[in-house]
Amino acid sequence: MTTSGCPAACSSRRCDETHNRPHIETVKRVLLWVILLTMPARSVVSAHSSRQSQAAQFTDTPPVRAAISWLKQNFSWINEQQIRLTEIPAPPFQEGTRAEAVKALLEEAGLEVRMDKTGNVIGILNGATTRTGQSEAVMLSAHLDTVFPAGTDVKVRQEGKRLLAPGISDNGTGLTAMIAIARAINAAHIKPQRTILFAADVGEEGEGNLRGMRALIDAYRSNLKAVIVLDGSGTDHVTTKALASRRLEVTVTGPGGHSWSDFGMPNPINALVRGSVRFINTKIPASPRTTFNLGQISGGTSVNSIPHEAILKVDIRSESEDELVRLEAALRECVTAGVRDEMESSRDRSKGKLEWKVDLLGSRPAGDLRPDSPLVFALRAADEYVGNQSRNERSSTDANIPLSVGIDAISIGAGGNGGGAHSLQEWYDPEGREMGLQRALLTLLGVSGVVQEKTR
Ligand SMILES: [Zn+2]
Repeated sequence: MTTSGCPAACSSRRCDETHNRPHIETVKRVLLWVILLTMPARSVVSAHSSRQSQAAQFTDTPPVRAAISWLKQNFSWINEQQIRLTEIPAPPFQEGTRAEAVKALLEEAGLEVRMDKTGNVIGILNGATTRTGQSEAVMLSAHLDTVFPAGTDVKVRQEGKRLLAPGISDNGTGLTAMIAIARAINAAHIKPQRTILFAADVGEEGEGNLRGMRALIDAYRSNLKAVIVLDGSGTDHVTTKALASRRLEVTVTGPGGHSWSDFGMPNPINALVRGSVRFINTKIPASPRTTFNLGQISGGTSVNSIPHEAILKVDIRSESEDELVRLEAALRECVTAGVRDEMESSRDRSKGKLEWKVDLLGSRPAGDLRPDSPLVFALRAADEYVGNQSRNERSSTDANIPLSVGIDAISIGAGGNGGGAHSLQEWYDPEGREMGLQRALLTLLGVSGVVQEKTR
């Protein structure tokens, strides 16, 4: 294969455009071939020539280009759906109304759609292999839930090109992209080799503890080959390593009493503060990177009452499972010491003693994507096709669950730009989102494969 480059002596912009176009086209074709080389083969050792011919056929298939142009042409529709879905509140454990809206949109995309007991919405596009008894599947997922409690104002405001609302980017962007890609594939009449599961899942954030993705993996684990998670905006990163984390809740209880007349009685908030100060002085390594966050504290009934209860929620994360175990043990030791200190310093222990416990609210397992995974090749090929560069990252996402059981998975942003995630100032700028949409589409088709039409 030859490429026609621009003559070295010529550097005009016009020359770049005219001389480089054939070169760019050739590069794109080559890259689509690369995508195709990652297509699922019945056997990993399938003949090279057969892969090449599949690749050639795929490259010349207009539907892939039709899907890409559908995404370009429907830019406004995609933005409108993002606003509409963001304005349907989806607090933790209350994703039902938004799930129904997503279900309707996936049905309009021509999919067979079901909802599972956990509350996930799954749109199914059957692959060619199902007829022959082979029912391998790949999944494109986006989480439905937000971190914002019921009653949060989620009305979308517009400032210039920016859309502002809690949840607009995380995960309005991912959710809308998942639906748009389903519709583009449907509009372009693309028939995948492997079944594609378009999943909008519940419980990704916080105490949801990835329950939606856990249920999906339980249900589809036996034939699931790859999971692509769309979460938030951007195209600059790809999560290939699952960050292990634990969420813990510390509860200290005591008899409680009056601030004046019962002074000297052990106080659960005092004990929790004493323990917390010890814990935040715990030495943690810079490498493997390990973090902790005292995220929520509650308890007490009034300023002039000795509380009968104090609660602290802590999030700990580490690149190393060992460090995570060590940090959890440190938290328990510090709470024990805090309670002991408070009991020892209380003037009147006859009025009761303190009890404490640490509950595990959530645990996200670790896991790494193998570097030679077809999913990695599909993403890299898609990145090159759209002219994007992205870096590998370790993060805590829905991809933790498939990765932890050995299923290839990545989490990527769905394009455009966003910021202020998990805050009331969250924003999203859809400019340039086409790149993210194309990147996700081509990665998905790279791992699903596309059935070639015999005649065109
Ligand atoms: Zn998210």
